[in-house]
Amino acid sequence: MRPTDKIYVAGHRGMVGSAILQRLRESGYTHFVLRTSQELDLRNQAEVFAFFEKEKPDYVFLAAARVGGILANNTYRAEFIYDNLQIEANVIHAAYLSGVKKLMFLGSSCIYPRLAPQPIKEEYLLTGPLEPTNEPYAIAKIAGIKLCEAYRAQYGCHFISVMPTNLYGIHDNFDLETSHVLPALLRKFHEAKIKGMPEVVVWGTGKPRREFLYVDDLADACVFLMNHPEEPDLINIGTGEDISIAELAELIRTIVGYKGRIVYDTSKPDGTPRKLLDVSRLHAMGWHHQTSLEEGIRRVYEAVFLQQTSDYT
Ligand code: GDP
Repeated sequence: MRPTDKIYVAGHRGMVGSAILQRLRESGYTHFVLRTSQELDLRNQAEVFAFFEKEKPDYVFLAAARVGGILANNTYRAEFIYDNLQIEANVIHAAYLSGVKKLMFLGSSCIYPRLAPQPIKEEYLLTGPLEPTNEPYAIAKIAGIKLCEAYRAQYGCHFISVMPTNLYGIHDNFDLETSHVLPALLRKFHEAKIKGMPEVVVWGTGKPRREFLYVDDLADACVFLMNHPEEPDLINIGTGEDISIAELAELIRTIVGYKGRIVYDTSKPDGTPRKLLDVSRLHAMGWHHQTSLEEGIRRVYEAVFLQQTSDYT
């Protein structure tokens, strides 16, 4: 990307899109085309085609998606598959029609088989059944990868897919029903501390293992890959390290400074037993994450709950 290129960040108000936009600005890029979901409904084909025809962006980061934690994925199964399929199909086809130079599609580590060998290599895609709680979302994201692959194979488009591990950051969703585990636990421990509650409820058994990446590190990797001459079909982005949900709860309890008990609600699902990405391909290209999990959680806790820079309620 040259500084004068026109860059479209789809989903620039979300946690991932806003971090990518900020990283691009820090790197000296100034020419952006941006639309909120109120201004442009990416599920609407006619609107998307007209937008690309008019704006003709050079580069596209496709970070717009319907996303959520285990409960949201399992509850809004229809929206998770329909909205994501529509967004990807419209944006990727429009990018092809309008001659976009390079597009990056952002997926998720849940595209891999539920019981994939760990750490998960890119080539394990479509080698086994998916985790049922987020299968609709995962199927939509797999379709996005295959769209990019197909347009590359047939038309020579420079469309690549990146698969981030579980992400967290300051602009996360802190709603207890729809969020992911890390923001949910930060909020639960913080509120339990302030209200003097004797216990915090953690869903599931605490045994599943997850890998967490700070969103600013993800944004850095995305800009790095957009500028990299190598164009793998699919590339994992993570830290290469995972921890159990019970360990995560302990870490957050320490950071927040909560003294009460942790109890496990095993009526809630555990989901995939383990999700750790193999990031050797990315490391071989020369990228490593910067922010440790403890440092990242501290940053989010301080910004969101202590300084209240974000309205987490
Ligand atoms: P997943 O990675 O797609 O399974 O999504 P989540 O981040 O929502 O959940 C990860 C794990 O954390 C699952 O085993 C959840 O049951 C567990 N978990 C424990 N407490 C919570 C909570 O308060 N909210 C969420 N979303 N997950 C929790």
